[in-house]
Amino acid sequence: MELIDGKAIAQKINAETKAVVAELKARGRVPGLAVVLVGEDPASRAYVRSKDKMCQELGMHSVKYELPATTSQQDLIARVRQLNADPAIHGILVQSPPPAHIDERAVIESIDPAKDVDGFHPVNVAKLALGDSDGFVPCTPLGCQRLLIESGIETAGAHVVVLGRSMIVGKPMALLLMQKGRGGDATVTVAHSRTRNLAEVCRSADILIAAIGRPHFVRKDFVKDGAVVIDVGINRVDDPGSPKGSRLVGDVHFDEVAPKCRAITPVPGGVGPMTIAMLMANTVESCRRSASRGA
Ligand code: NDP
Repeated sequence: MELIDGKAIAQKINAETKAVVAELKARGRVPGLAVVLVGEDPASRAYVRSKDKMCQELGMHSVKYELPATTSQQDLIARVRQLNADPAIHGILVQSPPPAHIDERAVIESIDPAKDVDGFHPVNVAKLALGDSDGFVPCTPLGCQRLLIESGIETAGAHVVVLGRSMIVGKPMALLLMQKGRGGDATVTVAHSRTRNLAEVCRSADILIAAIGRPHFVRKDFVKDGAVVIDVGINRVDDPGSPKGSRLVGDVHFDEVAPKCRAITPVPGGVGPMTIAMLMANTVESCRRSASRGA
């Protein structure tokens, strides 16, 4: 069994990104990312901090706006529009989930698609569905695909089961894998909460990608011998034995499943670091595109 080291692969990608940042800087361009957070959610705050820190490590320009939970939708959209017009900013993301009074879809639609480095704007979703490579692809599925490529796992002709159909992970993951070309050409099945005989469907996968947000849901009877398992899940569970009283686990029951696998990602240290690496790569790509447009 091979452990797919997402941390090491993300470090390699970050080193490549850092080199592109240096090249762009030499031409007078500094890639800039703006992260907007509304509210006090501690997990969201931690994500925003780590994105900011990574920007600094890679030599990028980074701004973060931590707005109060009472911020109106109108004010939030006004902030996004300011960032759309700011030439120092190439990537904008509004940290999810926003407070209940904010319509997340309307906020996403207010982001300039050329700066939507999360790939959630309908224009970018459509480009992914069309196979048009000048859009942006959501960072988590892009990171999963890159993990497979970097680990030498062939997707062409493979049967991939994607467990979960969210717009953030499952659906774009399926679209990426069914595209023609490297890291694609797979036969894709998307499974979800209404799928019949779920364990059996998952067991037919050469590559199983779990993104459902249910701790340890995927047990050994979901996985065929020699399969590759990518665990996207990040779930906090109680752990009285740990200093924090809790720990992070994936959607896959790692100890049970790992011995059956050809390769598997751990949680933490698998998909997580890749998501942020792809966000940085998308932002730098956005800057490169704006430079070539002469913008
Ligand atoms: P959502 O809650 O948006 O979607 C979950 C999906 O899983 C839905 O399609 C749902 O089906 C399906 N599902 C839920 N329960 C079951 C079940 N019992 N059997 C079959 N299908 C089920 O979650 P996300 O896609 O946003 O996130 C999924 C997981 O990935 C979470 O743990 C999240 O924390 C993690 N994540 C990790 C990231 C990373 O960087 N590593 C980034 C983003 C997410 P239905 O549509 O039928 O309701």
